[in-house]
Amino acid sequence: MSLFVKKFGGTSLATLDHIKRVAEKIIKARDQGDDVVVVVSAMGHETDRLATLAKEIGANDSNLHREVDVLLSTGEQVTTALLTMTLIKMGCQAKSYTGGQVSITTNTVHTKARILDINVDKLQADIAKGTIAVVAGFQGVDENQNITTIGRGGSDTTAAALASVLGADECQIYTDVEGVFTTDPRVVEGARCLSRNTFEEMLELASLGSRVLHSRAVEIASKYKVPIRVLSTFSDAEGTLITNEDNETMEKPIISGIAFTRDEAKLTVLGVPDIPGVAAQILGPVSDANVEVDMIVQNVAADKSTDFTFTVRREDYDAAMKILNKVANDVGAREVSGDNKIAKLSLVGVGMRSHAGVASKMFQVLFDESINIQMISTSEIKISVVVAEKYIELAVRALHSAFDLDKD
Ligand code: ASP
Ligand code: MG
Repeated sequence: MSLFVKKFGGTSLATLDHIKRVAEKIIKARDQGDDVVVVVSAMGHETDRLATLAKEIGANDSNLHREVDVLLSTGEQVTTALLTMTLIKMGCQAKSYTGGQVSITTNTVHTKARILDINVDKLQADIAKGTIAVVAGFQGVDENQNITTIGRGGSDTTAAALASVLGADECQIYTDVEGVFTTDPRVVEGARCLSRNTFEEMLELASLGSRVLHSRAVEIASKYKVPIRVLSTFSDAEGTLITNEDNETMEKPIISGIAFTRDEAKLTVLGVPDIPGVAAQILGPVSDANVEVDMIVQNVAADKSTDFTFTVRREDYDAAMKILNKVANDVGAREVSGDNKIAKLSLVGVGMRSHAGVASKMFQVLFDESINIQMISTSEIKISVVVAEKYIELAVRALHSAFDLDKD
């Protein structure tokens, strides 16, 4: 007998018909003799709807964030009740829980709280009685019982955290796609659903724009060594199993996936004096403005000046440009330039550790397509490049086929 934490996303719970189908899945697992704890997201785009209402009132002000959490957390409360009622109607013992009722304790950083502790007593009592607990994802309470939410897409993280503290055999994330793909199937026709993947690779893919899993969920599952399975609510396929690398049965392809993001921009401060403290002087004000910096490249020229380039999300481009124009003066730089029509692409694979030549092959493939590489950064299991946005699909397709990702 196994214990599964099953999390269902918004598209899987969009209507009462969908909810019925989810209930059937849960009952089928239980009838096979397994124990199940369920985590739900809000229905469809409910959280977006609530967030828009909050925005209209001006809820960006941090003194409203406590109330924003009260509002946003209602979406998941609705689905816990609807699914639990459906399960009971279908002859199952089931019980709904808000985050606070479980209790999932978080810190007090409203709208971006972190889970500190989960009390498993009630859930374990339910498991022992054969009752299916249906827990609201994405929410908790702080030590003073204020309702908190843990960041958009956070019910994956709730599920991974519950699976970890319960010692579940698997954390199963049900979604509307078959699993984790080698790249976006809308861009590459031959994109394949991976049968397995490692936590490490998944962390890179999740933080690089593959939207299928919340990266904090992967971090937690990896830390507590709980396998995650990403699978479709709408089929019976096995999905993608994400585990530790040292699993013996795991084939290790060199590259397991290509992630890309289009909405990037880059900024360059030209002719910066090559003296200590300049990077901090440039990036300090940028980070003070809450603009997230991604890739950074700096190169020293013969005249002892440097060009300092970094990338930000496209929506932050104008704000970053304004800051740099001011900073450039302060640090004695020549000028500032920028480009907000770039995209980033990353090859990810644990096999890179033991195989040389991945980068040179990647660069050759891009050269063969006459695509100029504007920036490069690497980690042990990832190579990222920045290219002009208009070439991103061509680049992804060429690399997908050059690295044989379309073959089993
Ligand atoms: N409903 C929340 C959101 O849309 C949490 C989630 O779906 O994971 O962000
Ligand atoms: Mg989600």
